[in-house]
Parts: sequence; C-alpha cells; structure tokens
Amino acid sequence: MNQSKVTTHQILIEGLRQTFSGRLLTDAPDMAAYLIDWRKRYQGQALAVVEPINTEEVANIVRFCAKHAINIIPQGGNTSLSGGSVPNPTGKNIVIGLKRLNQIREIDAQNNTMTVEAGCILEAIQIAAKEVNRLFPLSLASQGSCTIGGNLATNAGGVQVLRYGNTRELCLGLEVVTAEGNIWHGLRGLRKDNTGYNLKDLFIGSEGTLGIITAAVLKLFPLPAFKQLAWVAVQSTTHALQLLTLSKQHTGDSLTAFELISDNCLNLVLKHFKQCHSPLKSPSPWYILLEVSENRPEESHKLYLYGVLCDMLKIALETHLILDAVVSDNEQQFKRLWTLRESISAAQTMEGANIKHDIALPISKIPAFIEKTEQAIRTNFPNAHLITFGHLGDGNLHYNVYHSKNSRDNCIPHQASINRIVHDAVDSLNGSISAEHGLGVLRRDEAARYKSPIELNLMLDIKQALDPHNRMNPNKVLLKK
Ligand SMILES: Cc1cc2nc3c(=O)[nH]c(=O)nc-3n(C[C@H](O)[C@H](O)[C@H](O)COP(=O)(O)OP(=O)(O)OC[C@H]3O[C@@H](n4cnc5c(N)ncnc54)[C@H](O)[C@@H]3O)c2cc1C
Repeated sequence: MNQSKVTTHQILIEGLRQTFSGRLLTDAPDMAAYLIDWRKRYQGQALAVVEPINTEEVANIVRFCAKHAINIIPQGGNTSLSGGSVPNPTGKNIVIGLKRLNQIREIDAQNNTMTVEAGCILEAIQIAAKEVNRLFPLSLASQGSCTIGGNLATNAGGVQVLRYGNTRELCLGLEVVTAEGNIWHGLRGLRKDNTGYNLKDLFIGSEGTLGIITAAVLKLFPLPAFKQLAWVAVQSTTHALQLLTLSKQHTGDSLTAFELISDNCLNLVLKHFKQCHSPLKSPSPWYILLEVSENRPEESHKLYLYGVLCDMLKIALETHLILDAVVSDNEQQFKRLWTLRESISAAQTMEGANIKHDIALPISKIPAFIEKTEQAIRTNFPNAHLITFGHLGDGNLHYNVYHSKNSRDNCIPHQASINRIVHDAVDSLNGSISAEHGLGVLRRDEAARYKSPIELNLMLDIKQALDPHNRMNPNKVLLKK
C-alpha cells in the first residue's frame, strides 16, 4: 500500500468532518460493523464510512471521491448474502452508508404508489403502506434490517414473488446519483413509459456497480383482507410440482406463496429453536407451505377461499398427491407456520458453516435437478448434508451443503468442487446460478464461467459507459479488464 497516498486521502477526508459532523466514521471500532458481511465471510477495511442524510450529500461525496480517485462501496442494511456490501481489505475505499436517507417522501394512495428514500428499512415501508390500507408486498426474512435501496440494488425476491413479482416489478421510478456525482431524477409513478432505453432497469440489480440509488417510486396493492396457510406433507418434489399445478387451478390469483421445505430443514429448525414444533404427527421427506389471500373483506369471500383450499387439499389427499396437511385456523397458528420457514436461515447459521447456492431453474426441471445433484454430491462427499428449501412457485431453490459439527470430513474446503457439481447441473438445465441474492464477490467468477462472451462483453460495455473509472463497488458482479 502506498503510505503517502493513504495519508493524503486521510487528510482530504478530514476536510469532510465539519460537513458530516458525527456522520463521518474513521475509527476502527466505529467502522467495524460496516466492514464485515452478514455471514462473516468477508472482512474489509476502509478509509472512512460516510452517512449522508439526503441526495445532495450523496452527490457531493460521490463528486469528492471522483475528484480524488477514491472508490465507493454503497451499503444499505448490510444483509447481502454474496459479499457485495463490504469493501475489500486494501483500506482504500469509502463506504457510503445509506440508512440515514430514510424519509418516506410521498404516498399517493389513488395512484397506488409511494416514494421512499433508499435507506428506508423494508419493514418500515410495509408498515407505512398498511397505514393507508395498502400492501407493499416485498417480504424477506431480513426485512427488519435490509433497506429498499439494497433490495432494489439486488433485485430481491422473497416469499410473495409468485403473486406480485420481484423488486424490479414493484418499482416504477428511481432517483440515482451517477458515478460522476450527477443526480438522475427518474422518480416517475408511471405504469407506461416507452421513451427509450429503460435506465431504471439498468440500475435495479446492478449491486451498486453503476450508481447509487437514493430514492424510488414503489407500487402499492390492495391490502389482503385475510390470508390462509396450509402446511402440506409430500413424498417427493414431483408430487410438490403436481400440487403447485393443482393449487394454481383451484386458487388462481389467490395463491401468494408456495414454499418448498425439506425434512432436514425442519429438523434443523426444531433442533435450534426449542419453541418450534412440527405441525404434523409423522415426518415426511418434503413439506410445502402454501399461502392464499383474498382482498375482499366480506365473510362470504373468506369462507369461499377457505372452502376452495380445503377442497383442493381433499382432492390431493384422495389422489395420493399429498400425505397429510394442516390448515391454519387462527392468527397464532399462521405465524407459527411461517416462523418455521423463516427460521431456516438462522438455524443453518447456528449449525455451522455451509456452502450456499441460490439457483433458478425452469420449474418443471426441479425434480430432475434434485435427483441428479443429490446423487453426485452423496457419491463424492458421503458426509455432506443438504439443506434444500426455497420458493418453488418461482423455480428458486436455496440448495445449501454442510457437514455435521461432529463429522471430521469437513466439506467447506471442497467448496469449488461442490459448486462445480451444483452449477454445472444448473447450467445443463438452462438455469441461473443466482436467482435473488446477486453475484457480489461470492458468485462473480462463477457467473463469468457460465455466461456467454457476448453477454459478458455487453455487461462490461454498460459498466464502461456508466462508470468508466471503475469507482462504483469495483470488482463486484464482474471484473473489469
Ligand atoms: C436472514 C436473511 C434472509 C434473506 N432472505 C432473502 C430472500 O428471501 N430473498 C432475497 O432476495 N434476499 C434475501 N436475503 C438477502 C438480503 O437481505 C437482500 O439481498 C437485501 O435485498 C439486501 O438489502 P440491504 O439493504 O441489506 O443491502 P446491502 O447488503 O447493504 O447491499 C447489497 C448490495 O446492494 C448494494 N447497495 C445497497 N444499497 C444500495 C443503494 N442505495 N444504491 C446502490 N447500491 C446499493 C451494495 O453495494 C451491495 O452490492 C436475505 C438475507 C438474510 C440475512
């Protein structure tokens, strides 16, 4: 590291202290939480962490960085699962923490939109929408910590994509600070706008590598009057897929979530969260958590949907499509069933290190993928265990591999070989190696391996056009030559 250059940068950064007052962090203990990722796999260093409170301050700090050739790492809630939100260990970058940019600028209930700043916590947005009798449907287990800016930057998915789409589909307009520090005012609440290239969709999913999202116009929906949940046991993923088809036929647009959970996932949750209980008497290889919802408040609609769900499950039982099922009949039971699903990530972490895969496949290919990949992993790594769960309705699996704590055969050092088995299988079925967590650094080189040269070069051309000096979250998503 060039000591004199770092000192120059440090002196320059001191010049910002008056403007940012307590919002310029340079001491190691103050910066610590910003420099390590949620999974504690990536530890970085930084010249400083800056916390702007408005778009103009973001633009000013970006211009300062452009002028002094300092790289920028935008950070929201730092819940990224792919190492995208933390700086590298060189200590030459500035982290721009966006959580103080947290105003809800406008709610237009008639247009069914809300305009929010990037640092708003997802849960706070859901609550604000509910206060005007609307739904903002993005829903993730990290919603108490992640920010809407991070959700947009990663095009987050979650448990209601089946009905409402992912973050990209929930966003109508953006405000962005470009790599030069200019502000693009694209906060339009329009459902139709065919005036040339779609810049909004370039920034969504770009993981902070093209610019900093400072605000967004989000779509709102009618608030569901009630929801119903079923926990269903099935013998195989083939049966699970058939149940998905049957559910769509019977419940139509009311189907909001269709989550796959392996028995191993349930057992991990029961092991680490003693307050949780299995909803059914007998274990089964796979479970489905199936949610339906209804917007019309009248009791007759509620009873009708409940009837449709129960009738569908009855048919599934009689035709041996499912082994057993329980339907939530009160709010507490509803929450308890969702808690089982939402505790899987935490239970995995408590069990120890694991190798994560976040894959998307054509829904019809999921049983073939599971059979083929499981066999290959068991043959090559007999002590490895699989945690398979995910948003089956969207063709998105979280396919994670770990070894039990007592096993001497640690599979973590074999990450590269395990990735090869899983990602080759995904590629052979025309799937994607990142469904919703982005590439960050964790999957950057894997993506480069599977993307065609044309696709990679087009991505590099876009990066070159929008961030020619490679200042914005450098070396995340793709490596610039
Ligand atoms: C328990 C748990 C469950 C999760 N479940 C899901 C899930 O179901 N579905 C899902 O999709 N993800 C899930 N995630 C991953 C994570 O929560 C999402 O990726 C989330 O969208 C990240 O938001 P964040 O504010 O924490 O962003 P960060 O982690 O801070 O940043 C993520 C990326 O976005 C960039 N970024 C952040 N803010 C901005 C901005 N304003 N402008 C430009 N770039 C920015 C960062 O540089 C980084 O590359 C989960 C994570 C955890 C810990």
